This record gives sequence, structure tokens and C-alpha cells, in this order.
Amino acid sequence: MNEGLKGRKSTIAEIPEIPDAEEKSPAKRVTKSDIGTTLSRPSRVGRSHTRKASTYSLVHAAALTKLYSSSKLNTKGPPQGISGLPNYGNTCYFNTTVQALLCTPPLTDYFLGYDYTREINKSNIDGSKNAVVAKSFGTAMKNVWKGGISSSNPVTDVKALHRALCSFHPEFSDYGQHDIAECLGFLLDGIHEDLNRVTGKKPYVEDVERVVKEKVEGEDDIMEDEEVAAKAWEGYLRRNRSIIVDLFQGQLRSTLRCCNEDKKGGKGCGREVRKFEPFMFLTLPVEQSGGSISAAVKSFSSTETMDGDNKWYCSSCKTHVRAEKKIEVWKVPPMLIIHLKRFGGRGGAKINAPVKFPLVDFDVSQFLRSPTEGSTVYDCYAVALHHGSAGGGHYTALGKSRITGGWYDLNDSHVGEVDPREVEDHRNAYVLFYSCMVDSGSDEEEEEMGKKTGSGRREVHIRRQSVSMPHLWPHMNKRDQPSLKGG
Ligand SMILES: [Zn+2]
Repeated sequence: MNEGLKGRKSTIAEIPEIPDAEEKSPAKRVTKSDIGTTLSRPSRVGRSHTRKASTYSLVHAAALTKLYSSSKLNTKGPPQGISGLPNYGNTCYFNTTVQALLCTPPLTDYFLGYDYTREINKSNIDGSKNAVVAKSFGTAMKNVWKGGISSSNPVTDVKALHRALCSFHPEFSDYGQHDIAECLGFLLDGIHEDLNRVTGKKPYVEDVERVVKEKVEGEDDIMEDEEVAAKAWEGYLRRNRSIIVDLFQGQLRSTLRCCNEDKKGGKGCGREVRKFEPFMFLTLPVEQSGGSISAAVKSFSSTETMDGDNKWYCSSCKTHVRAEKKIEVWKVPPMLIIHLKRFGGRGGAKINAPVKFPLVDFDVSQFLRSPTEGSTVYDCYAVALHHGSAGGGHYTALGKSRITGGWYDLNDSHVGEVDPREVEDHRNAYVLFYSCMVDSGSDEEEEEMGKKTGSGRREVHIRRQSVSMPHLWPHMNKRDQPSLKGG
């Protein structure tokens, strides 16, 4: 049955449809039919006039209206959106994943303030059967936010979602222990493909790379990289457009440099190849001694030498050479997930050392390599914890309520309040969930939200990524995209 289109007009009448421009008319740039508030663009990119922008502002507003009108009913127990989940037999990795995602405000907005079934992709062979993953996630989201109104310890049944995940990835159906990072990756990927706005066969897209023959430092070099990065992003969007891309995906820059010992006194021929690849979360190495998030990013971006069997073919030297490889963070998504690679010790042992991470005001500009506009400040809204050892352990989540601003300890079906200081100092932190923040604007609802959470800040507006609206990409120099001119 055509369930995705059923009730298309009536389900949430007040929410306008957000069109994905290129799907409707691939040859035309859409400027009028997209929804959203007007968005001023800095004149630097030559768009000093205001124009309609496709953000999720209306979706956000609709969700807030719903959440706040019903949250008044909740007088005892944890606030809405904070719910225990039953353990179905070693499913703490799954519960923790879901609990962290349920605390992700713009994801809640999307599932509660918008008729997401409009976007269900029925023809995507990469998605789950009948888009059961996205549908069950949507149902879980609704049940969690609907439930808990009168109960002092709400528990929401999410077995259908677990079943859906197992049907998509049968390895999770063994009731064994699993890594939350794996579960999170598969769940987000399933939701992404089920809601992928690319309909029909995904187009073939050529890899984009930048070859640098002689190293040039400085602004020009960075801006040239930015252009290639934007082109790579465009190619990616041709195959991948969903709420998951809009929220959770950023870009990494990988650099390979020739170190041919026979050239220039062992310095190599100077050839460098740079590529820009999307990421869903950052997996950072953890030193045995712990340290800070900043140190972990530094270690992630350190130069690795490719030698021996691992040599790189330099097409300028026309032979396999010793090479230097480096991966750096180029674009950070609005929702940044950081996975601390704790199971990388000797023999896969867990590294228990504490890693210091900021709960608020985490400024990512310290490691961001690309030119940036807008906020680079992130606040943490959920943390997945791993207790125990690699051989046997337990996962729980710490999640922040968007209603009260308070933190909650979510341990399967048990829910309790927790002091934010305990969150920050938690030595079992394993996956961190961050949201990009800006000061509350003049928008009344946002101001109200800021007052309620006592923060005076709000999450950034989420920009819907589409091929035909490069002004909404995170890149700065998309004005002169040759491939976009006149088309
Ligand atoms: Zn070379």
C-alpha cells in the first residue's frame, strides 16, 4: 500500500511540504516553492539580498508548539522525551543508541513536527524492506514523546525498532553483546537510506580530487580546496539526501603526499592528492593515558607514513613510493558525533583512561581546517557510556532534556536525574553527541525555549541539503560552481 502518501495533505496540515528541488524539476533551480524563513547571506558570497531558504525552521516551530502544549501535562516523573527502554536480552547497546538519538532535538523536530512519511523512499535498494527501520524509528520517537505524561517512570516499548534493525542487519538478532558505534552507524544508515530523497537509480558520480604539484600555502590554497570540497559534496548529494545527511554528516580532507626518496634529496616530487569524503561520526584514537578531546583530534589528524607493502603509487613519479597520509576535519555537521576508540588497546583491550570533554562551549574551530562561517561552538546533549571491559560490559546513556535542560541517567528501563558535573567527568564516556549552538535570536518561540532551558541559546537552524541550493551547503565558495551554472 502506498502508505507514505496516505494522508499526505491531512496528517499535519499546518506543515508545508518541503520540496527537494532537483527531484521535482531537475533542470530548474527552485527559489520560490521552498519553505522557510528568509535567510540573510553575508555579502561576501555575493548574496547580500535575502532569499527564501530551505531550512527546517517551520518543522522546528511545529514540533515546539506540540511539545510545549503537551509538556504542561507532565507533572511527575521525567520530562517527555526522556524514557526508559526495556532490555530485550543484551540490548543495552541498542537502548543506549536509541536513547541518545531521542535526545537529538532537530531529529525530534523532524519526526514530530513533520510528516516524514512523505520522504519514505520505496525504491531504494539500499534501504530496509518497506522502510521498516525509518518507520519504526518514527513510531518509537512518537511513543517516547507521547508517553510518560502520567507515569513516574515511563518505559517505552521499542521492540519493533530492534526487530527492524535486525531485519536490516541480522547480526544484531543473536542477543549477544554488540558495539554501540556499530549499532549507531547501521541505525543511522538505515534511517538515511529509507528516507533518502534521491528517488530512482542513484546516479554514477565521479570521484573528485585535487592534485597539488607544488605546495602553496595560505588562503588561496585553502579556497581552492574549499571549491573541490564543495564539488565533492555536490557529488555526494546527488546520491545522498536525507535528514541524516542534513544533521549528522560532515567532510574530511585526506591528503596523500609523495615522499619518493629519489627526488629532491629524499623530499619527494611534491605531488599531493587531496580528497574530501563525508563522515557520519568521528572515530578518535584514545591514548593509554587518556587526555582531552582536543588531543584526540590532534592524534586523529597526525601524519601517517605509508611504506613497505603499503606504498602509494605516485602518478608523477610513475612508481610506488613512500608517502605521507593525513586525515583532517574539513566540515563539521550541525550534530557532531564523536566516538572514542576505546577498544584499541593491546589485544583489543579497553582503554579505560578518562578523556576530558567540554559539556558546553566546545569550539571546534581549533581543529577545523576549512574556512568557516557561522557558529563553531557546540554543546553536548548526550553521552553513551561503556562500563566494564572489552569482554563483558554494559552500556548506558546520559541525556539532556530539551524541556528542562536537566541531565538524566538512562540505564535500560531505569531513569534518574544526574548532576551535569558528573556527566563532564565521566570516565566511561564512549560516544559523545554534540549540537552546534547560537545565541537565541529574536524569534519568540526560541526565546521562550532559551528561557525554559536557562541557556539563552538554541541549536542552529538545520539547512536542507540539496544539489540545486548550494547556498545552503556548509561551503563558502559555491557561487561559481561551473556544474551549477544555468542548471
Ligand atoms: Zn612523486
